[in-house]
Amino acid sequence: MCLRRLSGFGIRRSTDLRHIAYWSAAAQAARFTQQFVPPNPSVARSLPFVAARVDIYKHLKSLGVLAQSGQRANSDNPSDKGPWLPSSVKEFSDFYAGISGDFYAGVSGIKLQRCITAVVEDAKDADEWLTATKLEKMRLLDLRGRGPSVFLSAIPNSAATVITDRDWLFAARFYLGLPPDPFCTHCGACGFRFARDNSDQATHYMCCVKYRRLTVTMRHDALGQHGCVLGRRAGVAAAWEPPPDSGARDRPDGVFHFVGDTLYTDTTVRHAYTPSAMKVVNFKPGAVLESAVKGKKKHYCPFAKENGGRFAALAISTHGRFHEDFLIFIKKLSWEALNNGVVLSEKQRRRFLIQAVAELSIILQRQNAKILYRCVLNSRSYSHGYRYRRGQRRRT
Ligand SMILES: [Zn+2]
Repeated sequence: MCLRRLSGFGIRRSTDLRHIAYWSAAAQAARFTQQFVPPNPSVARSLPFVAARVDIYKHLKSLGVLAQSGQRANSDNPSDKGPWLPSSVKEFSDFYAGISGDFYAGVSGIKLQRCITAVVEDAKDADEWLTATKLEKMRLLDLRGRGPSVFLSAIPNSAATVITDRDWLFAARFYLGLPPDPFCTHCGACGFRFARDNSDQATHYMCCVKYRRLTVTMRHDALGQHGCVLGRRAGVAAAWEPPPDSGARDRPDGVFHFVGDTLYTDTTVRHAYTPSAMKVVNFKPGAVLESAVKGKKKHYCPFAKENGGRFAALAISTHGRFHEDFLIFIKKLSWEALNNGVVLSEKQRRRFLIQAVAELSIILQRQNAKILYRCVLNSRSYSHGYRYRRGQRRRT
């Protein structure tokens, strides 16, 4: 549960951070402590803080932080994740000579700690990647996009951004890749048997044919309708599922009348690692959304053209990763809000944008929780309901 770049949230473990924090603090003070260090290296090593620095150097190196002698290779780039450890004690003070000042090569003491932490976590993630299953890899890749972690830090300032404790529990388990219920063995609706460790349970609930027309459709509708709510908040005339005057019912599910421009939209939610999606995506992050948008465009662009408008597919993954077109659409709404006088400054426009993204993320997670909760209530375990359902008497 501790904070990790890919799988986890909360705060970092202090045991993971203490060595890095000591190193950064020593680097900040390097210019001042150097004058007390005797020039003879063997004598210097007997000093407690020099000895501690040498120990930490070894420890950080074992965690995967690269060592380097001399100056940093690319000192112009502050976010450079290159080597951070000067290889000898003497080079230490030269390397971090001015770090206690405002900036040294764009790096302050706090930033140094963050940079080294990032390097250590990247190395840990690379280790875990080697032993991860296919499903875990796809989940991690999906979480790497823009949006999945928004619900963790959204401020509950409106009805749309409030999430109940129960929904939060399901959303958090889903985010961490844990099964919603570790004890059930079968899907209650279609009888699908989960893997022994229940790792495919959440994925099955997201694509089970029996739930597809129920809670899964409700999630889609809730997101699409909230898109229209955001449109109206921005002063745009928006309609959800506009009825056709005549002809086929097959049409995009939203329409937005911007000034001098009509935009047809269609909302779609995809789970990145359903068995059918895995065949399409081939381990490319976001590829499942790309293919969804491509399909929607092919389907609806002729309709939009015929009706004198444009078309945009609003695709989001079940973890909340937004497709680029979805974010562009929300940005367009924010600009429209500024033009219509709903928001009055650039700062307020940005707030409108952040609020819109947060509301959509929370609504998605609430609906995810609803799906998982309902499925768990209906689920069966091998020793009870499943046999009973098939007409076999339970053995006692
Ligand atoms: Zn099922």
